[in-house]
Amino acid sequence: MTDKCDQQTRGVHRLRNPWLNRGSVFTEQERDQYGLRGLLPPRVSTFEEQVSRLTGIIASNPEPLNKYLILEGIHASDEALFYELIAKNIDEYLPVIYTPTVGEACIKFSHIFRYARGLYVTAEDKGRVRELVKNVPNRQVDIIVVTDGSRILGLGDLGVNGMGIPIGKLALYTACAGINPQHTLPVTLDVGTNNEEFLNDPLYMGLRHKRIPDEALFELFKEFVAAVYERWPNVMIQFEDFQNVRAYELLARWENEIPCFNDDIQGTASVAVAGLFSSMRALKAKLSDQRILFLGAGSAATGIANLIADAMVEEDGISREEALKRLHLFDSKGLVTSTRGGNLQASKKPFAHDTDNTDNFLEAIKLLKPTAIFGLSAQPGAFNREIIEEMSRINERPMIFALSNPTSKAECTAEQAYTWSNGKCLFACGSPFDPVTVNGKTFVPRQGNNHYVFPGIGLGCIFVKTKLIPNEVFLVGAKKLASLVSEADLGNGSLYPPLCEVRPIAAEVGAAVAEYLFDKGLARIERPADIATEIKNFMWQPSNPKFGDQE
Ligand code: NAD
Repeated sequence: MTDKCDQQTRGVHRLRNPWLNRGSVFTEQERDQYGLRGLLPPRVSTFEEQVSRLTGIIASNPEPLNKYLILEGIHASDEALFYELIAKNIDEYLPVIYTPTVGEACIKFSHIFRYARGLYVTAEDKGRVRELVKNVPNRQVDIIVVTDGSRILGLGDLGVNGMGIPIGKLALYTACAGINPQHTLPVTLDVGTNNEEFLNDPLYMGLRHKRIPDEALFELFKEFVAAVYERWPNVMIQFEDFQNVRAYELLARWENEIPCFNDDIQGTASVAVAGLFSSMRALKAKLSDQRILFLGAGSAATGIANLIADAMVEEDGISREEALKRLHLFDSKGLVTSTRGGNLQASKKPFAHDTDNTDNFLEAIKLLKPTAIFGLSAQPGAFNREIIEEMSRINERPMIFALSNPTSKAECTAEQAYTWSNGKCLFACGSPFDPVTVNGKTFVPRQGNNHYVFPGIGLGCIFVKTKLIPNEVFLVGAKKLASLVSEADLGNGSLYPPLCEVRPIAAEVGAAVAEYLFDKGLARIERPADIATEIKNFMWQPSNPKFGDQE
């Protein structure tokens, strides 16, 4: 539907509106229709020419942060062009608009800020959040990604600077899953920061005080939820990079009330379980025969461990109690056991087993003899040579998943994992690494990153206008993603499909999720005869943008 207001937006106002601007691609007819004659260089460019022009400019800037800034400028002036550039260069630009470069962009956010995007709700806005939500220019919002900036990637508390993450995640929703960019809203709840460096930085753009108590944050969030659902009753909410305890608490309070999920807990779990399903194919093994040790016991690790337990129950028919016995956590205080003492966080309790205590990870490996280790600790170098060699000694083909982000926080590099295991390991990483050749064989590591699943899961949820997002959805996504890994991929050591296929992957995952939601009676639309085709038609295309919902 073309909106009347959009039709009436003319001249320079059209050129300055990123949702409506097509720059030099405006046709002769559009130039007359919208009063643009004389405001653009005379020759009409094709979309391809404009893409190639900008690709050249970006390529001439080798620094990733400069690429980010150029892309951000295009995002702020011409959304269709921005998304076409991403679509055409997904392997190269995804690590720029998302991890690892987005991490650097967040750290420097207050120093590089140029364009307003999204919504900032601060602790000082309590009582008037509705007014703020009314100011949002999007007429329709299907998805909100919200953070409080308290645990940005593995970089800690970045306060309001964390806004780079919701912006980046939503850019991926559009680039990977064809969610109309006009229907997305990045949100930061600025409730202060405990980052002393930022509090002392004169350019820091957030509230200049320590974080408010959690309960006050939850109250602010409640007001925010009321305001957004009053305006957009079908919107779904993705929680992003909230510090662990808050992340679990928010999910527990809202998962049965509104369609929401936490990507760090559930999206990560889905992609990690998909990697395990692929590993089981490569090893011709059963999931319930695996023993898995996690370095890190935060949102990501416990989310993954819980979903693996669900998968063992569903795939292999063992009891949940039996499944939990195969899963062990190791955090900053050592192995999580039933006798360790101290006040154990509720999310760790199911994995606190009756084993010996140790605060040495290598000792824990010797004790438990895991078939897989997962790194979700943001401790670079934690999977050192001794650890990989020990894993290779006790396993024919150890599974090594170094999932921490950004690259600087990875527990080991791809090269280290393949070299130290003498090419035996099955490896996945959170951030991208180049192929590695060991003993004449080239391995192609792929990212165990939730960008393979959350766009498709969100697409399925948005497509059906889901009432809720049950946890089973993430197992549905994992199974579908793993099924898309080819035998050739597995042969190269890849546990995930190529990134360039991320859009068709999102369509497949979205269709599987939609099907599940229809089956469970959670959809708010009528079930179409052919879900897969309808979902593809639903996906927004930058080369044929359907704008028209701007107020
Ligand atoms: P979190 O803060 O909730 O958890 C971090 C965990 O690491 C805690 O349990 C902490 O005790 C543990 N830890 C810290 N120092 C340690 C040490 N020296 N030894 C052992 N454990 C230690 O964070 P999270 O949300 O679980 O994220 C952790 C990491 O996983 C981050 O780097 C994040 O970027 C990454 N992550 C990756 C993906 C992905 O898609 N690949 C998704 C989500 C999170």
